[in-house]
Amino acid sequence: MALRAADIAELLRTLQAPVTDFDCGTLCAPGNGGVPVCCNAAQVLPVLYKAELALLQKRSDLWRRHVPRGQDAPLRAAARPCDVFAVCKGHTQCERHNRSLACRTFPFEPYLDHDARFVGIVFAFDQAHLCPLITSDHDISPQFIAECCAMWSRMLELDADERAFYAGCSRTLRRQFGALRRPIPVFTPTGVVACPTRRAGRRGR
Ligand code: SF4
Ligand code: SF4
Repeated sequence: MALRAADIAELLRTLQAPVTDFDCGTLCAPGNGGVPVCCNAAQVLPVLYKAELALLQKRSDLWRRHVPRGQDAPLRAAARPCDVFAVCKGHTQCERHNRSLACRTFPFEPYLDHDARFVGIVFAFDQAHLCPLITSDHDISPQFIAECCAMWSRMLELDADERAFYAGCSRTLRRQFGALRRPIPVFTPTGVVACPTRRAGRRGR
């Protein structure tokens, strides 16, 4: 079932803590014209749920819909029916309480095990060339991890399509880490867990 405005409001409320105890924009902004990379739509284009954009647009004029037409036009082909691209007014006019789910969870995504059960959060490794946090050893805030895990757990309970989508992403991650013969580091509220890429006792991933 598609997410409703009330669901989105609940999920947004869950996410309040910053990703680190320091301003991680200090890692990327100085080499990026003073703009945090994840707040520059030309580098990281925000993807919102349609109901999320509608809700945030009722609250403020921070966000507007964006249809990729230039260099980012290929992104349209990859977009899912529930998603919409959007841009904000920029980092100098950010409204913390009106940030999107994507803003509040970057650079992490959920990780689901072989049985599509939520385990915790993993770095979005496809963003490693953009976000120095992914390749650094800075501590991730325990409160951020706890809030993200609570949010994703609830989201996957609410939306079976999201569960299927992220189960697929997690399968891809298992293939990538399996090829490297490395376990997947998954952040959970009780610590970082090294998740195996193969199901115990079986050969398949
Ligand atoms: S999350 Fe990554 S890209 Fe965004 S401000 Fe922090 S270091 Fe920069
Ligand atoms: S809303 Fe704020 S956190 Fe999100 S992309 Fe815009 S400036 Fe960055």
